[in-house]
Amino acid sequence: MNKVLVTGGAGFLGSHLCDRLLRDGHDVLCVDNFFTGSKQNIAHLLDHPYFEMMRHDVTFPLYVEVDRIFNFACPASPVHYQHDPVQTTKTSVHGAINMLGLAKRTHARILQASTSEVYGDPEVHPQREEYWGRVNPIGFRSCYDEGKRCAETLFFDYHRQHNLDIKVVRIFNTYGPRMHPNDGRVVSNFIVQALRGEDITIYGDGSQTRSFCYVDDLIEVIIRMMNSEAGFTGPVNIGNPVEHTMLQLAERVIALVGGTSKLVFRPLPSDDPRQRQPDIALAKEKLGWEPRVSLDDGLRETIAYFRKLLKGEVAA
Ligand code: NAD
Ligand code: UDP
Ligand code: UDP
Repeated sequence: MNKVLVTGGAGFLGSHLCDRLLRDGHDVLCVDNFFTGSKQNIAHLLDHPYFEMMRHDVTFPLYVEVDRIFNFACPASPVHYQHDPVQTTKTSVHGAINMLGLAKRTHARILQASTSEVYGDPEVHPQREEYWGRVNPIGFRSCYDEGKRCAETLFFDYHRQHNLDIKVVRIFNTYGPRMHPNDGRVVSNFIVQALRGEDITIYGDGSQTRSFCYVDDLIEVIIRMMNSEAGFTGPVNIGNPVEHTMLQLAERVIALVGGTSKLVFRPLPSDDPRQRQPDIALAKEKLGWEPRVSLDDGLRETIAYFRKLLKGEVAA
C-alpha cells in the first residue's frame, strides 16, 4: 500500500482516480479547493477507512508525508479556466513548484496531468510527443496552455537538477460521468441540450475535429504510467486517436438520446484548434495500452449519468 496524494481529487478525472486507487488498495489523500470540483464526486468515499479529504489550494505550500503524487489540480474547461485566468496560471505554475518541492522533500514519485493544449493549434497531425506546438502566448487560452507548458518545464528541470522521479502525461479530450453539466465543453453541452430537447450549439461550421477518450480508458493508462519503469518520464500522449468532427458528435448524441433537437450554428471561439488527434504509439509501446471503449458505449454511460443528474437523482 502506498500513501498517495491526488491534487484536484474532487474533480472529474481526480475523483475517478481516487476510486481506482482505493480499489487497488492504496491510502488516498485528496486535496482540492473545490473551485470546479464537487463534494458530490467524492461523497461516496468519505466513509472509506483509507480515504482522506483536505480542502487546500495548491498555490500555497503543502506539508504532508506521501509516496506518490498525482498532480491534477487545475480547472480544465475553457469556461472555467478563463473565469480567473491569473489564478489558472498560478495553479499550474505555483502548484507545480509546491508539489515538486513536496516530492523532493518526501522522495515521492510525481505524475503531472499535462494536456494536448501544449500543442496549441498544431501544424502537424496527428501530434507526436516530439512536436513543440504552436501556442499563442497572449490569447484567452494562454493562461491554461502556457501554464501547463511551464509546469512541464518545471517537472523536467526538477528531474534534471534534483533527480526527481517524474512522469508526465499529455491528456487529450476526455469525457464520462461526473463531467460538469455547465462547463461549456462540447460533450456535456450536446448531451444536456439533447436531454432537454434544446437546440444543439455547433461552434463554427462543425468541421473541426476532436478525439474523445472515455474516462475508464484514461484512468487505466494513468495508473500504468505511474507504475512504469523508473527513468521513463514521458511526456506521453494519452487519449483516443479516433477522430470525429463536431457535426458527427452531434449526430451520435442525437441518435443515442433521441428527441427533436436541431442543430444551430454559433461563432467559433478565438484560438479554437481546428484538429486534434493524439499519436499514441509511445503509450502503446511503453505502457502496452490502447483505448477499448467506443464513442457510442462511452456516450451511453455519460448520457445515463446526465439523465440522472437532470432528474435530480444525483447532485452535481
Ligand atoms: P476538473 O475541473 O473537473 O478538476 C480539476 C480539479 O482541480 C477540481 O476539483 C478543482 O476544484 C481543483 N482545483 C483547481 N484549482 C485548484 C487549486 N488551486 N488548488 C486545489 N485544487 C484546485 O477538471 P478535470 O477534467 O478533472 O481535469 C483534471 C486535470 O486533468 C487538470 O489538470 C486538467 O488540466 C487535466 N486535463 C483534463 C482533460 C480533460 O479532457 N478532462 C484534458 C487534458 C488535461
Ligand atoms: N514545498 C511544499 N511542501 C514541501 C516542501 C516544499 O509545499 O514538503 C514548497 C515550498 O513552498 C517551496 C517549494 O515547494 O518553496 C519548492 O521547494 P524547493 O525545495 O524546490 O525550493 P525552496 O524550498 O528552496 O523554495
Ligand atoms: N463546441 C461546440 N459546441 C459547444 C461546445 C463546444 O461546437 O456547445 C466545439 C468547440 O468550439 C471546440 C470543440 O467543440 O471546437 C471542443 O470544445 P471543448 O470546449 O469541449 O474542448 P477543447 O476546445 O478544449 O478541445
